[in-house]
Amino acid sequence: MSNYTYDELLAAVSVADGKAAVDPATGEVIGNSPVQTVAELDELIATAAAAQPAWAALSDEERSAYLHKAADAVEASAEALAELLSREQGKPLNGPNARFEVGGCAAWLRAAADTPLPSEVIIDDESGYAEMHYRPIGVVGAISPWNWPMMISIWQIAPSLRMGNTVVIKPAGTTELSVLALVKVLNDVLPEGVLNIVTGSGRTIGDALSRDPRIGKLMFTGSTEVGKQIIAASAQNVARLTLELGGNDAGIVLPDADPAAIAEGLFWGAFINTGQTCAALKRLYVHDSIYDAVVDEVAKFAKNVPMGNGLEEQSLLGPLQNQGQFEIVDRLVESAKAAGARVVLGGEPDRDAPGHFYPTTIIADIDPQHELVLKEQFGPVLPIIRYSDLDEAIKLANELEFGLGSSVWTSDREQAMAVASRLQAGTTWINSHGGLHPMVPFGGAKQSGYGREFGVEGLKAVAEPHVISGR
Ligand code: NAD
Repeated sequence: MSNYTYDELLAAVSVADGKAAVDPATGEVIGNSPVQTVAELDELIATAAAAQPAWAALSDEERSAYLHKAADAVEASAEALAELLSREQGKPLNGPNARFEVGGCAAWLRAAADTPLPSEVIIDDESGYAEMHYRPIGVVGAISPWNWPMMISIWQIAPSLRMGNTVVIKPAGTTELSVLALVKVLNDVLPEGVLNIVTGSGRTIGDALSRDPRIGKLMFTGSTEVGKQIIAASAQNVARLTLELGGNDAGIVLPDADPAAIAEGLFWGAFINTGQTCAALKRLYVHDSIYDAVVDEVAKFAKNVPMGNGLEEQSLLGPLQNQGQFEIVDRLVESAKAAGARVVLGGEPDRDAPGHFYPTTIIADIDPQHELVLKEQFGPVLPIIRYSDLDEAIKLANELEFGLGSSVWTSDREQAMAVASRLQAGTTWINSHGGLHPMVPFGGAKQSGYGREFGVEGLKAVAEPHVISGR
């Protein structure tokens, strides 16, 4: 197993003539990723299909041992991986960002390795006998986004390999070097052909991957819009799907909450990864009686959190990952300002400065039906909405087509449980937002997707259930 330096890792994945990977903090080109063709994808799927029977024939223990070796390899090159991730994605090394993400890759590999999924006896009585086995599906096609490119790729790769599938992964166009480097590190210890990576555009390579009849299961994380295209593409072959799609998570602060005590949790719930997180807090409903205090406390905390180039050790917030995302955020905030919402913090980007930095922004006294509230901003902007009637706040929280996460903030546990039971979401957090655990199922309700990742549910999602019935 190698302990790569940044330069060695970059040299191992960057090509002389490819697509430029641009540092979103500076605009500098850091390397080039290969632009592959559909013919090359075809070969990679053939390789994955050929490698699958031997991989599936290994015992659970043998495959788990490989996943532990893969986690060791990630840990051995953690600093180089984090630096490349920071340079290409923009996220700072520190805080819940690049080093945290690389650590998460190792943790999720180990959790997939250590989670047992034995066959189960379903009935064994006078009515009959049946047992359930969890077989490999075959080749898994994985398509990942640019916000947590390494960790989300691992969420797709680790359970798939654990259950005896082989994988072809396609990263998002603006974070290809990061995932190429991760796959390079993993492939130093995995058997040949088990994990394959293809780079190229979503519309050609991603589409061809999701239509290929040799792909038994697609794991897709990205926007709801592209998720719908994947559903259509998969119909041809009845490919199994796990879809982790967009979110516009609501948080509701009840009147008994302590504004100073919850400010830090609210801030990181919303601004983790500079707001570019599927299950970030994206709209906050606060009871009128403590509205001003909550707005003040969150703003007070927010203005001391340093934003800057991710390689600077003090930075905890970074740039937006790409120009397109900067424009989405900028337009939504300008629209809120024009509609008379109050800018409590930020809201004035330096559009001529290098990189895609958008300042930490808090918007108060905004119409609950404004587009900054209704659309997924995916950036460092939190709209805070005033409510006086809890039923109305719950109705607003539930009225969108999204249902990924949600949160309730209160010191009354019983109230928290009562409100949580009325929220439509894959997860409702109490007094925090967005925390994930490798053993706790994660996924979306409504148009935030279907299927669950992590833990036993996550392993079942990449397996074919097979009943053997009779004595
Ligand atoms: P995106 O949908 O634009 O792209 C995701 C991936 O799909 C990329 O690899 C892209 O190249 C590929 N792709 C694009 N068109 C395709 C097509 N026609 N067929 C197949 N693949 C195609 O999303 P993004 O901008 O990279 O990521 C941001 C979005 O992802 C946000 O909406 C965010 O909420 C969501 N997200 C969800 C989760 C979750 O767990 N639910 C996690 C992270 C991000």
